Amino acid sequence: MKGVFLARSLRAKSRSAALLLFASASLSAPGFTHQDKGFAEQRAAWNKPVAPFRIADNVYYVGTSELSAFLITDPQGHILIDAAMEESADQIAANIRTLGFKPEDIDILLVNHAHWDHSGGLAALKGLSGARLLASAADKPDLQSGTVSYRDDLAPAPPVKVDQVLNDGDKIAIGAITLVTHLTPGHTKGCTSWSMRAQAAGKPVDIIFTCSLTVAGQPLVGDRRYLDVAQDFRNTFAKLKSMKADIFLNFHPGFFHMSEKRQRLLNGDAAAFVDPAELQQQVASAERSFEKELARQQAEANQP
Ligand SMILES: [Zn+2]
Repeated sequence: MKGVFLARSLRAKSRSAALLLFASASLSAPGFTHQDKGFAEQRAAWNKPVAPFRIADNVYYVGTSELSAFLITDPQGHILIDAAMEESADQIAANIRTLGFKPEDIDILLVNHAHWDHSGGLAALKGLSGARLLASAADKPDLQSGTVSYRDDLAPAPPVKVDQVLNDGDKIAIGAITLVTHLTPGHTKGCTSWSMRAQAAGKPVDIIFTCSLTVAGQPLVGDRRYLDVAQDFRNTFAKLKSMKADIFLNFHPGFFHMSEKRQRLLNGDAAAFVDPAELQQQVASAERSFEKELARQQAEANQP
């Protein structure tokens, strides 16, 4: 009984003090946007189940076939990054249980950006876990309203309360986990990336969870509601280029070739997700696609 009591008191403590934010001092994914024909089929396709698995020692994939969710575990409490769609929440919770963890032990929820396909499951998972949701100031109002104030073409998400605002450089610490926050706007005004140190295949690795690597049908030229969008993307690319990572992760699994890496993992390659060159390759590729799209929109805007 004493052990249980101790565990509970530690847990209570971790709930109130788990989050150590040190004010101090970086990529998302294509958002499917329109509620057009085929939307229900698209959602169903994105929500196909995937068996959860370990990426690095305390970092697990618990998302769906096309929408990521990452569980970072510690005996003092877990962190969940992203909740996919509203209809994905049960699947994410089940995946966490399959791994032997409890959704109720999640202390902190994070979301890479306030689009329905990543934030939709947050409200349900927050209710289930009692976790606190931390998000950037720029994405906070959109998470809380369930809509994106500067886009008319996106599906809504269930509104969810943000408990604390994250600033650039903020550290989120629970037990042995320390995540560093990198504001990487562009894909949304508050798109957020995180980095952390972990172990993979017996070696220390730097992991990055990236936001703002794609333009998702966004206006890049002359949109009064987000005039700085192109500059934000460029600043984000510059920030990410200055960083190093051994494991590159993103919020759509296809983007980081999850299936192929997962297969190599199953074939016995414990370092299947380790690729120190991938971050720079991905950013360079994202930047080329962005500049091409920007040029296309500028030419369109200049047409008489
Ligand atoms: Zn998006």
